Amino acid sequence: MDFDIEQLRNRFPILHQEVNGKQLVYLDNAATTQKPDTVIRALTGYYEKDNANIHRGAHTLAARATDYFEETRKAVQRFIGAREAEEIIFTKGTTESINLVAATFGRKFIQSGDEILVSGLEHHSNIVPWQLLCQEKGATLRVIPVLDSGELDMDRLDEVLSEKTKLVSVVHVSNALGTINPVEEIIAKAHAVGAKVLLDGAQSTSHLEVDVKELDCDFLAFSAHKLYGPTGVGVLYGRRELLEIMPPYQGGGEMIKEVDFAGTTYNEIPFKFEAGTPNIGDVIAFRQALRFIDEVGKAAIKKQEDHLLRYAISRLSEIKGFIPVGTARNRVSVLSFLINRVHPFDVGMMLDASGIAVRTGHHCTQPLMKRLGLEGTVRASFSVYNTKSEIDRLAESLERIAKRKN
Ligand code: PMP
Repeated sequence: MDFDIEQLRNRFPILHQEVNGKQLVYLDNAATTQKPDTVIRALTGYYEKDNANIHRGAHTLAARATDYFEETRKAVQRFIGAREAEEIIFTKGTTESINLVAATFGRKFIQSGDEILVSGLEHHSNIVPWQLLCQEKGATLRVIPVLDSGELDMDRLDEVLSEKTKLVSVVHVSNALGTINPVEEIIAKAHAVGAKVLLDGAQSTSHLEVDVKELDCDFLAFSAHKLYGPTGVGVLYGRRELLEIMPPYQGGGEMIKEVDFAGTTYNEIPFKFEAGTPNIGDVIAFRQALRFIDEVGKAAIKKQEDHLLRYAISRLSEIKGFIPVGTARNRVSVLSFLINRVHPFDVGMMLDASGIAVRTGHHCTQPLMKRLGLEGTVRASFSVYNTKSEIDRLAESLERIAKRKN
């Protein structure tokens, strides 16, 4: 291990509590990660010392809050390797970032007869906005099929991608199974037919190095709360050339240059897409989350998470009745499974009684569950602050659950 795990865990106050009489084991990191002390302090510090509305004020607090807010934008730019800070738009989450692209790029550039391509691994937030758009425009939604292993059937990409495809919107890493998709190949092939590409980075940005220049994607959407940051903050990265020709998203203050009843002109990017008062305090605190990732190091985080995943797979595989769901070799620290025929929800409740937090159900991926012939799974997802002894606790509880129902 490249860091002192106890010191690192001490930075997460929430981990140090008992749940149902047992020390908490938090294994629901794909839903949301916990927050380090510096993020929590930045939030309270903002409201204690700096709270003011940004961009317009002549006074010192407004200038300070504006500086801090814009510093986060620059930190996000560095975090994903964007060329310019203006290519970073703050939203309230991945969901809103995707909806923004559907409502602006989609409304302007998708026409009747066009096709939008997603994959069978998508979260509902990368399906429904495109269905709504397709209904409105008379366009067609197509799907890259999924193999039994939980990987995309790349041999069939050419069947669903064509000159008709105007946008490919795919998940970089599956939240339900942890599969890392071969997005480089998808992006290259999509560009070859003239389609733009949106990556849903909700699960990839927390585990992998994500560089938008290297990936050559056109849009990237992700959420701060899955990256040790606060809820209510999302990011949409878009290439400048595209953002400039896209119409605004919502109308209101901040997004305008000049308003007249005869007509309104719009602000420059990114402000054109940020109508109204944004989530200032949470955006400012998000900066500390990115600093935390920098301090620990993406490589060290990945190494620790890979180590935990490998340990969990081997430890849980010893349990009679353990059925892994999704066996992709290329994956992040997410483990979906079933225990015998025990309903995933019951497994979740029994684990909770032992102080262990996992997620159960369809993970907002109903089409994927249908494809796999399942109603849902139990999902344990590991973060940098998890330990092998926590996985032992999970395994011991699962052993008891498996025996009880046999
Ligand atoms: N896509 C994926 C792959 C996700 O895991 C999630 C969150 N579960 C989302 C999109 C939606 O993110 P949010 O709820 O933060 O908008």
